[in-house]
Amino acid sequence: MRFLLLPCLLIPSLWGFEGLPALHAPLTVVVDSEKPIPSTALQELQAELDKLLSQGQRHVEWKLRSQMQPGAEAADLVVVRFRGSCRMETAPILLDERGPLAFTHTADGEVLPFSEVLCDQVKVAARSAMHGGQLRDGDKLMGRAMARVLAHEIWHITGNTHNHGKHGVASRGLTGAQLIADRLDFDRSDAGALTRKTVR
Ligand SMILES: [Zn+2]
Repeated sequence: MRFLLLPCLLIPSLWGFEGLPALHAPLTVVVDSEKPIPSTALQELQAELDKLLSQGQRHVEWKLRSQMQPGAEAADLVVVRFRGSCRMETAPILLDERGPLAFTHTADGEVLPFSEVLCDQVKVAARSAMHGGQLRDGDKLMGRAMARVLAHEIWHITGNTHNHGKHGVASRGLTGAQLIADRLDFDRSDAGALTRKTVR
């Protein structure tokens, strides 16, 4: 196991339009969580991850782990477990800011399609960048932060890489401000890694 703090090359002339079919197999994201994820956070998580992976021309198929049937098949999948509480707190949070936001399992140097997102750490990072009225949208911003952390991990997985990008979602050590900013994208030079197969 390895700790990671932690997803097109668009061809605009042909594929850079919304509504055209994805070029690559959908990515099934199987979600499990220790505690229920607030619906507002879940909606934003799904919308933001869909947007980020579409930058690598990957369509996301969401599944709850509890809904997976034994023997169910998916061409390409990632399993993510959200640990801790993914509900934003309005009271001050007195937790240690240090430590990873997520990690992804590896074996023999290969990045495996199993990630764990540490909601308590993500929450501290996101909360530290919130001010004023943003707390009213706490769960929404939490969902956005969760999506960016997860997209970062998925990028490691699909690219089977321990490296990082220089800018954007694939960069090392995303800050709280980056996690909740109105917009944070994959750098174009990084997004191509999202199209690679995850099942090896
Ligand atoms: Zn990373």
